[in-house]
Parts: sequence; C-alpha cells; structure tokens
Amino acid sequence: VPLVLTEFLDRAVKVYGNKTAVINNNDDLTYQQLYNRVQQLSYGLRDLAVQKGDRIAYLAPNTLGMLEGFFGVFQVGGIMVPLNTRLTPDDYLYILNHSESEIVFVDEELYHLLLPIRNQFTSVRQIIVQGEEKIALEEGDLWYESWLKQYPSFTFQKVELDEQDVANILYTSGTTGKPKGVMLTHRNNYLHALSTMHHLRVSDRDVVLHVLPMFHVNGWGSPFYYTANGATHITLKHVRPEIIFEKIQNHHVSVIHMAPAVLNSLLQYYERHQPNINHSVRVVIAGSAPPPSFVSKVEQQLGWEFIQVYGMTEASPLITTSQIRVHQQTLPMEKQYRLKAKAGYEMIGCDVRVVNSEGKEISKNDKEIGEIIVKSNGVMLGYWKNEEATDEVIRNGWFHTGDMATVDEDGNIEIVDRKKDIIISGGENISSIEVEGVLYEHPDIVEAAIIAIPHEKWGETPHAVIVKREGSTLDGKEVIQFAREKLAHFKAPTSVSFIDELPKTASGKIQKVRLRNEYWKEHE
Ligand code: ATP
Ligand code: MG
Repeated sequence: VPLVLTEFLDRAVKVYGNKTAVINNNDDLTYQQLYNRVQQLSYGLRDLAVQKGDRIAYLAPNTLGMLEGFFGVFQVGGIMVPLNTRLTPDDYLYILNHSESEIVFVDEELYHLLLPIRNQFTSVRQIIVQGEEKIALEEGDLWYESWLKQYPSFTFQKVELDEQDVANILYTSGTTGKPKGVMLTHRNNYLHALSTMHHLRVSDRDVVLHVLPMFHVNGWGSPFYYTANGATHITLKHVRPEIIFEKIQNHHVSVIHMAPAVLNSLLQYYERHQPNINHSVRVVIAGSAPPPSFVSKVEQQLGWEFIQVYGMTEASPLITTSQIRVHQQTLPMEKQYRLKAKAGYEMIGCDVRVVNSEGKEISKNDKEIGEIIVKSNGVMLGYWKNEEATDEVIRNGWFHTGDMATVDEDGNIEIVDRKKDIIISGGENISSIEVEGVLYEHPDIVEAAIIAIPHEKWGETPHAVIVKREGSTLDGKEVIQFAREKLAHFKAPTSVSFIDELPKTASGKIQKVRLRNEYWKEHE
C-alpha cells in the first residue's frame, strides 16, 4: 500500500464520522461534514482541469478553507503550495511564478495583496477567494463557498498516487536568506505524521488549537496526525493572547503548538491579566531553543507541560524531541527544565549525528561543537528547481542542517547556534542563543537578539539588540553589567542598541540577518 496522505481523512470519517472534527468560529463540523466538503473541493478542482502534479497555492491563515485544502488537493493529485501570510506582493509574485502555481486560494483579508501583481502572473489561471463574501471581486475570480456548492459531496474517485510523488512545496522561512522551495513527498509527510503522533501521544481525546500557521512547516503536518486520530481541530485566524485564552477556556483545548515568541506573549498577558485557565491543556510544543528560565515559567505559571522539538522545513520538519526526558520525573526540577530546553533525542525514523569539520562524529562528553546532520524518512526530495542548492545540503545521503550543536553526557543534542549566527571572538565560539538566554533573565528585557559586529582586536564581538519593558529606564551599560555578572566576560555584549520590536519571520523567529543588515547600514 503506498503511503499517501489521503488515507488519513478516509480513516477519520470511517471511525469518527459523527465526532466534531473542526470548531470554526462558532460552527462545529463533524468528520462526515468535513469529508463531504472535501469531496466537493476535489470535484471542483477536477472541473477546473487540475491534473496530477499541478501546483495549487493557498494564501490563508488557519481557517477551515485552509484545512480543507490539505485533503481536497491530494485527492486530485495536486501539489499544495502554502504561502506565508506575512510576505509582500513581490514575494508572492516570485513564489507563485517560481512554483508555477495554477490556482490560488486566498483568504478575503489577503486578497488585496494579489491585486497589484496579478497582471504579471505567468501560470496562475484562477483565483478563488475564501471568506464571508464581504468585498468586491475582480472579474473572473470566484467565491469559494458559492463555487463549492455546485459540486456533489459523495466520494470522489481519487487520482492514483505513488508515495514518492511530491505532496507539497514549502518555501523556507527565509531566516538566513531568500526562501527556497522544499519538495516533500507523500512518504515524507506520512511517516513524519506517524512518528509525531506517537511522540506527542495524539489521541481522539485531543483538542488541538492551531496557533502555529499551517502554511509553515511547523504547523503544516498537524492536520494529518490529528485527523488520522479523530482529534478536534480549532481553527484560529488571528493570533492574539486574549483570543487564545478564550479558546482554551471555552473548548477544553488539550494541545497547542506555538512559536516561543507567541508563548512569550501569552506569559506576558497572563502576568498582567491573570485570565482564567482551566487545566485542560496537557502540553505545549515549541521549537527554537528557549532558555530554561522560560521553560520553568511556562510550567510553573501556566501549568502546561513543555516539549521542545527541533527540526527544519527540509526534514518535514521534526527530527528530535525533548519529550522522552520530560517523563524522567525523578530528576530535580532545575535539571528537568534544563533538559527541556535542549533539542533532546532523535525521533523514530531519524538518524541524527553531530559531526566536526573533518566529518568525525562527536559523541558524549566531547565538548566539541559540530554540525547536525540527519538521515530520515522526512528528508525532502530536494529544493524545487534548484539542484545546486540541493547538492550542497544533501551529501552522501545526509542532510546538512547548518545548525551547530554539542552532545551532553546523556546523549542529548544541545543546539549551540546556526553556523551563520555564531560569533567568533578572539578565536572563541560564542553562541548568540546562550547570551540571549541570560539577557532574558533580566526583568526589564522583553526580547533580546545577539549579533556579531566587527572588532579590531577580537575580530568580532557580540552586540545586543534589546526590546525593553514599557516605561523601563534600562540603559546599555546596565545590560552589559548584567551579562558580565552571569557570563564569561568575552561572551558579554560590548555594545547595546534598543529597538521597539525585533524583525521576525511568520513563525516568530528573529531575523538576525535583518538586524545585521540594519547595523551595517548605520555604520557604513
Ligand atoms: P531559511 O532556511 O530560509 O534561512 P529557516 O532555517 O529559519 O529559514 P525553517 O526550516 O523554518 O527555516 O527553520 C529551521 C531552523 O530553525 C533550524 O535549522 C534551526 O536553526 C532552527 N530551529 C528549529 N528548532 C530549533 C530548536 N529546537 N532549537 C534551536 N533552533 C531550532
Ligand atoms: Mg534553514
């Protein structure tokens, strides 16, 4: 049996037909109702002459219409190209033309972003708008609901797929440069879903609040593994702390996947407003190396178990999780928090190694920093239309992540930094993440980023870019002093600048490349 993604909804409707599949605003849909709408979508796409392998783009936040795409597109053999909702029209033009997408589904709130570029489309031939039909459309564009209604809801005869067929092309976050189109196959996604549902212990009792955007790889896989197990999805169009707490209260949410930046904003909100949280949330999952103090705050103040995961678009995405360690409850809390802030152990189906510049594997206690490489069922087929970049990262069957790490005495992988973000000062490697972790302990520091700046004597030194708490009188000297008390002196920032907000990707990652560019603009 080929491992194809359409199987998951088929199973859900068979086993959980009358169960609530989606809570969308205030409408609830059962799995049978979701299934029926997905059949309509597939009939509609076939009517638009979509052929196997055609690219279908989605530009939408986490809505019902977006979720339906995850099942309806594959039934006609289409390849889904989800677009980050925070890009500019020029970015969309680049991605839509580069991916040669033919149909675009767009949320009505984002429709205006396509208007200035549509006359330059080279492949898009139909725009379908999802929403409440409140705006005027340009000629030829269709309203999703009216369009869907024309089609039957009985079972669609699926296009036959092979597990090595591409399911989706995801453009990377662009944290370090121009986004690349990552091709993931049905097999990649399917096996990743199996591994993740096991590690997160997903069940039909789960109610998942979709905070992480589905267009980004971190949120992308979740429709598959929660659907396969008959869990309930809550769509969330606008990511705001008050709305998140409201959903948690009203719908007995059990699982939330979040970027640390959003989790941070929830903590801030919680401290200020003390919203009522029932104790339904069993776990939150976040990547991107938050400091241990952050983990302890989440667990102590909100009472949510924290799972650290590590991965990247090119690996579907997850390759390691700290969750195995979380259950070693006999350890002192301090140690538990420290372990949860590490990337953890490899997940099922992944072979993860840390190698030094000579390619030699680093093992426990080596204290050496090396690059993480991975061989796994999730590793992409390659970058779309970019063989050169593919060959650069996949060598001898190993995907080279560009992330640097050490291995601790228990075999846990601890991310040190991205290769591009490490600061080399007087021949010493300084992890920007480590320094940021210390700065976050300061009560007046809301956000911190460390970047390398040139230094005559040391080559590079760390520079801190800080967002301080409103009304705080904190100055640069105090920041440096604070860091020096807690870190080896050479690791402390030598200069500080203050900013209102740090530039972030749609998944909430700080774009240090933009901070570095800004810095150079000011100092040239
Ligand atoms: P681009 O490749 O376009 O520069 P990106 O690498 O940020 O963007 P993603 O695939 O979304 O795009 O992110 C993967 C990266 O995120 C990883 O390579 C790693 O650097 C970082 N990351 C993910 N999880 C963790 C984690 N648990 N701890 C530290 N870093 C993490
Ligand atoms: Mg990357």
